[in-house]
Amino acid sequence: MSVADIAVIGGTGFYSFLEDYEERTVETPYGAPSAPIAVGTVAGRQVAFLPRHGAHHEHPPHAIPYRANLWALRSLGVRQVLAPCAVGGLRPEVAPGDIVVPDQLVDRTYRRIPSYVETGAVHLPFGDPYCDRLSAAVAASEPGIKSGGAMVIVEGPRFSTRAESRSYAGEGWTLINMTGHPEAALAREMRQCYSAIALVTDMDAGAESGEGVGQDEVFALFKANLERLTGILSRTIATIPDPDGCSCSTWADGIDLTYDIP
Ligand SMILES: [Zn+2]
Repeated sequence: MSVADIAVIGGTGFYSFLEDYEERTVETPYGAPSAPIAVGTVAGRQVAFLPRHGAHHEHPPHAIPYRANLWALRSLGVRQVLAPCAVGGLRPEVAPGDIVVPDQLVDRTYRRIPSYVETGAVHLPFGDPYCDRLSAAVAASEPGIKSGGAMVIVEGPRFSTRAESRSYAGEGWTLINMTGHPEAALAREMRQCYSAIALVTDMDAGAESGEGVGQDEVFALFKANLERLTGILSRTIATIPDPDGCSCSTWADGIDLTYDIP
């Protein structure tokens, strides 16, 4: 019997989602998740909420317990993960205040453990890193949402230099963030559907002529858009597709996984 079928992993500025909830403290083989997990009901569905950076933003992007987070959610029964995050814009197609559902990611992190696989030949299919069915449900939840584009994930916690930022934009990548990897890959290893919901809080350093991004503007913009984001999440949950048969789960059929899925 699953405790929750759907999870929301809240990003910077997004520390609570459920009005009425019960808290679950979960231990995992990978240590404790970022925070106790809140479980409640949204649109008649059992939903788990986990603040990615901890309840008081104590985990910086490079030190988030990513493996514990996805394992803990799966252990509660979660098969679909909605992952809001704050991002910088790299290209003029996006502007602060936009909500974008990316369809690709580029991993530029270098000191995180990006997999549950520690032995044997298990190679995750990741050509399309996000669940297209879940992403389509998010995109359909509000007319203003933009779909598509690549999100580059950098190690952080520092912001980019102008040269880095221009180079990423020159590659044609649209968004930049510090947490989208390995979260998306770990979710798929846990056979979960995963969709990123990116709120553009600022333009990255090389993408505008000003001072570049500052922490205050990121938090302020997230705060201003929190209500819109929770509406998108609630409407998505109300119409979320059935995860049965999705390739996010079936990729592992017939494969001897060398790690446990709770
Ligand atoms: Zn899926």
